[in-house]
Order: sequence, then structure tokens, then C-alpha cells
Amino acid sequence: MNEVANSQNVHLERVLGEYDQNVSGPTVVFTCGIHGNEPSGVKAFSNVLDRLEEVKPAISGRLIGLSGNITALVEGERFIDEDLNRIWTQERINRLNDDTRVHELSVEELEQKYMWHRLSKVFKMTNGPIYVIDLHTTSSESQPFLSINDTLRNRHFAMKFPLPAILGIEEHLEGTILNYMNQLGHIAVGVEAGSHEDPASVKNHEAAIWLALFYAGAISSTSIPNSHLFYEQLAKGTMNDRKVFEVRHRFKLAVDTAFIMNPGYTNFQKIHKNEFLAVHNYEEVRAKESGRIFMPLYQKLGNDGFFIIREIRLFWLKVSEYLRRLKLEKALPYLPGVSRHKGLDHELIINLRIARWYVIEFFHLLGFRRKEKKGKKLILIKRKYDVQGPELMQLMI
Ligand SMILES: [Zn+2]
Repeated sequence: MNEVANSQNVHLERVLGEYDQNVSGPTVVFTCGIHGNEPSGVKAFSNVLDRLEEVKPAISGRLIGLSGNITALVEGERFIDEDLNRIWTQERINRLNDDTRVHELSVEELEQKYMWHRLSKVFKMTNGPIYVIDLHTTSSESQPFLSINDTLRNRHFAMKFPLPAILGIEEHLEGTILNYMNQLGHIAVGVEAGSHEDPASVKNHEAAIWLALFYAGAISSTSIPNSHLFYEQLAKGTMNDRKVFEVRHRFKLAVDTAFIMNPGYTNFQKIHKNEFLAVHNYEEVRAKESGRIFMPLYQKLGNDGFFIIREIRLFWLKVSEYLRRLKLEKALPYLPGVSRHKGLDHELIINLRIARWYVIEFFHLLGFRRKEKKGKKLILIKRKYDVQGPELMQLMI
């Protein structure tokens, strides 16, 4: 394994494999092992590629698998200098292009540079829709689930999988690769397949890769023997089949603070308001509201103690889809306490002294996300490419 740590080989090992037959169609990119202690995605992608080469099914478009944090994968660590899944912002990407700074880059910036180099090449090669599937595992035991930014295009794709989907985690986590891929206009879905050590996680990732290829329309499920087993593999591991949840609360940890989660919590476990959940800096942490616990921290590294999530009923999902298709953005600044931010249609500034109603809930329904909060002012931004992808937006101008 040591030879992949060498910088020349890092570049060679970036592409885990590709499969295409020069027929136009979607591009499906799988990013595997963005966190170095999560090798499940790398293994699963290699298994799928072996099977494709054996069965040789017809494919429209192409698929490609990229490895993420190779240096950290070799070490078996989540990251070396910084979290590779928190540095995908436009600002940081621009800095990577400055070749005079190469010697100053952190281990993860170098990994990102190689990843981005490959990704941008892949994106330039196609006019078809692009799907990015980011493969992860969790530190504690968990049923598999999907994580998406709340655009209608992401929702429609995610809801084909027999798995629960978590919306809006990007409002709390800056710089994830999914968020950046969404900003570029691609459909982007994170697959959390189970815990790091559980062998079932590799099987779940394999099943999710196959289903993503079928649902994106790249490969027909009828061309793969026993393809129904992939669906069954994911469906059997989950109790919240196709339910959609939103993130309500994040318990953020400052650097060098002592955090101990109470033992025994699993993802999606129901909790009640005021339930004693953890100890932070020798003080009790209690649930701010009832809901379900999400991503409780049972490893040493990480900035998030836990999240609280809540189910969004189908009725509200339909209402929000209807509202978004009406494209109401231009009328919103007429509401009391709401104005355009920097004159932009898709950015709003909310004065919480005036707008005292369910601001976040309302704007979530319309496809806005929280950008920042300054005192009593909240800045919200509309997610781009919510209803249509960049290809269609071009045609409509
Ligand atoms: Zn991860």
C-alpha cells in the first residue's frame, strides 16, 4: 500500500475506473473515500467495476470512480491536516489554481487539487446531465441513508432509492463536495452506507452504486442478472424507507472542547425535548426540541456533537414543490421585514425584529437556505438550479 503515498502515484491512483461505450447520456461520478477512514466506497466501486467488466452491459453515457483522500486512506485516518469534505468553496478552489502556492498547500488541498483537476476534465467532456454520488460511512452504527441539498432535482433522484433522505445539512456544514457540485448545477447525493467497520456497508455502497446507474438512466436494470437484489439489500437495512427529514439543530463543537455523547444513541433514534444527551465542558447538554438524533459523535475527530432532525410530511414536500414552480422570488421583498440583499433577486435579508413569523420554515419551502446570521438579520440564498439544470437554463434564456 505504501507506494500510493508517493506523490507521483497519487495522481495515477486518482481514477479508480471508468466504463463507457461512446454513446451519449448521463455522466455518473462516484467519489470514494473523501474521508480516509471510510474505505468502503473504494472497495464497493472496484467490485462494481469488476462486475461490469464481466457482464459488459450496454451503457448510455459513462461512469467514473475517483478516490478522495488517498494519503489519509493509506493511513486509515479521517484526514491528515484538515477535513477534505469542508474545503469545497469557490474561494478555496480559486486558490488551488495559483501554481506559485503549491508548496504551501496542506495535504488535503493537494488531494483536492488532483480531484478537481480530474472532475473538471470529466465535466467538460459532456453535454448530458451530471450526477455526483459521494460515498461515506459513519462513526456510529447506522442504517443507510442519503444526504442532499434541498433542490427539487436532488429530491426527485434521491426519492427513487429505498432509503431515507436528509435535507439541508449544507446549511450547517461549510464546504462539502456535495454543496459545491450542486452550485455547479449537478445532481449530487451523499450515500452513508452504515458504520466504518461493518462489512454490510460495502454491500450497501455497491447496491447504491448500481441503483444510481439504473435511476440515472445509464444502465438498464434488465441487463444485470439479479438486479432486484440491490434494491432489496438497501430496503432491508432501513426502517425509514423514503422518508424525508430536515436538519433542525446542530450541536457545534469549538476546537479543544471536551464532548462526551451519552452511550447507546443510534442514528434516527427518537428523542424528546429536554432529554439528557451529552456532556460538553462538564455541563449537561439537553435536547432543544423533540425529533430524532442524527450523527451522534462517537469518534475523536469532528466538529459536530450531534444533529436533531425532523420528518417532513409528504404533504409539505408537495406544497413546497408547487410553490417553487411558481417562482415567487420577485414578490418576496414586498413582505414585511424582507428585502433584497445587495440588490440580488436570489438573496434576501430578513429583519427578524419585523418578520416574527416562521421565517426559516417558510423560506425552506420556497427553496432558500440560510447563508448567515448577523444579530437580528438573517441572510438567505435561493438554491440555484433548483427546478432545472444548467443545460435547460441556457436554452431558456
Ligand atoms: Zn465521511
